Amino acid sequence: MTRRAIELLLLVALGAVWGLAHDSSPWTLAGALLGAGVWAVFDGLRAYRVLHWLSSLDVDNLPRVSGLWGDVLERARKLVRKFEKKIGNADARLEDFLAAIQASPNGVVLLDAQARIEWANLTAADQLGFDAQRDVGNYIRNLVRHPGFTGYMSAGDFSHEIQIEAPHTLPTQSRQISIQIHPYGKKRKLLLSRDVTTVQLAEAMRRDFVANVSHEIRTPLTVLSGFVETMQNIPLSEGERHQYLAMMSQQAHRMQTLVSDLLTLSRLEGSPSPGVGDWMNTQELLAHVHQEALGLSQTLGTVAHQIRLESSAPFWISGAKTEVLSAMSNLMSNAVRYTPAGGEIRLGWRLSEEGSAVFGVRDTGPGIAAEHIPRLTERFYRVDRSRSRESGGTGLGLAIVKHVTQRHGGQLQVSSELGKGSTFSIVWPAVRVRTG
Ligand code: ADP
Repeated sequence: MTRRAIELLLLVALGAVWGLAHDSSPWTLAGALLGAGVWAVFDGLRAYRVLHWLSSLDVDNLPRVSGLWGDVLERARKLVRKFEKKIGNADARLEDFLAAIQASPNGVVLLDAQARIEWANLTAADQLGFDAQRDVGNYIRNLVRHPGFTGYMSAGDFSHEIQIEAPHTLPTQSRQISIQIHPYGKKRKLLLSRDVTTVQLAEAMRRDFVANVSHEIRTPLTVLSGFVETMQNIPLSEGERHQYLAMMSQQAHRMQTLVSDLLTLSRLEGSPSPGVGDWMNTQELLAHVHQEALGLSQTLGTVAHQIRLESSAPFWISGAKTEVLSAMSNLMSNAVRYTPAGGEIRLGWRLSEEGSAVFGVRDTGPGIAAEHIPRLTERFYRVDRSRSRESGGTGLGLAIVKHVTQRHGGQLQVSSELGKGSTFSIVWPAVRVRTG
């Protein structure tokens, strides 16, 4: 300010001095006014350069202006820099925020007041079948052409979610998408979508499981209560009474086995994997299961099976002993139960070249068609229902074997040929095997 006043005074004084040279006061006044005019022109020029710069706000090309206008320029430049930094920070935060929404496993779509897409993440685009970039600005109802969704949008009641089949998917890969809209701001909407296929699958599996268990328990229960009623209402001979009681005991035993298998499965699912601590001699395990096999084979028929042990050098495996014995027994009992009397069954532990241990059960039974093999470990899956029940099967044996092997880091392998027999193998991981 002082500098401006000095400049002005200097020019006015110069003008006045110039006027004084003409020896008259009007000239002096005119000279002073001329000096003030010259100053005003220069000042106007500087103001013009400042205004010109303000319209471009190019902080890297600041005009060289001195005095007050120079200060104005410098302050404006600092302000512009400050705002640029703020905008940069806000942009970076927005980018981070959008990247986080992009990474979400759920779909997110922002809709304007007319339900046109403002922004959508790739998950939403994939689940609802549109292009996250190309379709910005398009009406969502033109892109998601599902009657359920159209009805949802028209009704305008967004207090609940809806489920639709994902568009553009093959019937074999059908996906269920849950959608809910949350209104916000001035008539804008936030659309959230979720792939609920696996949740629905799990729910269906749970329903199937409950239905299967109820069915499995109801059958022996019906038989049992039928016998009880008969014994209550009809006079029976001693022989009949014995026969009925034997059949009742068989049904009760069947229920007991089923409940015991169910408890084993639920224990296996709910407990942590066994540590690598307890070592078991494979020959002892084998001897135990061999004895069981001989007993079972005798109880099943008049002609027993030929049960052979395949010998190998002794070695040790680690894991939970009861689980290992239960898995081995299940495979052995299947071989004995499904192989016709007189058939051959071979049991044995051996070491593989990779260092893992393999427990194999080979039989000369009916064999299993290839299409059934991938489903054998599903709970209650049976190739031959009546055969399984007749021989006291619960349909849970292989599910238990699979759980036990997986919990120990192993694998269950099945190879079979119809009419020739089957081989079931438990492959025990090398870390759980010791040879000395
Ligand atoms: P189950 O109690 O019915 O034997 P599993 O889960 O142990 O149930 O076995 C599932 C099905 O696999 C059986 O019902 C049977 O059809 C088939 N299966 C299992 N082992 C054998 C085998 N060694 N030979 C032929 N079929 C078998």
